[in-house]
Amino acid sequence: MTPNSEDLATNWLGQAGLRPTRQRVALAELLVGDGKHRHVTAESLFEAAKDKGAAVSLATVYNTLRAFCEAGVLQEITVDGSKSYFDTNTHDHPHYYWEQEGRVSDAPSDQLVIQSLPEAPEGMEIASVDVVVRLRKKADHG
Ligand SMILES: [Zn+2]
Repeated sequence: MTPNSEDLATNWLGQAGLRPTRQRVALAELLVGDGKHRHVTAESLFEAAKDKGAAVSLATVYNTLRAFCEAGVLQEITVDGSKSYFDTNTHDHPHYYWEQEGRVSDAPSDQLVIQSLPEAPEGMEIASVDVVVRLRKKADHG
């Protein structure tokens, strides 16, 4: 039997060591309830929650996403220093940023080769490397 979305959400919260409050379960269901990875913004998740009839505020969605990140079950991808996307796949992988649509998606990681990185400054170590490949439509020829 395949687990239902609520089970998946509750297990996911358990992995994160987070108490499965009603609001967290509702949001976690929207994030991982189908067992697939996805990228969301606080706004898109808020809209999805509203559509499902969940009584949450945008601030709650935002705080909950932050809590998921701190618990290590969600990865934040920042574009332009201001727009935040949240990814349920927490393994290092490159992203496309679709400039005109303002969305992110996974880029094929087998095509990414990083030959070398700048050395970390004295006393520091590299925590992670974020790769965001920005896409825009090719200009019409002319
Ligand atoms: Zn991703």
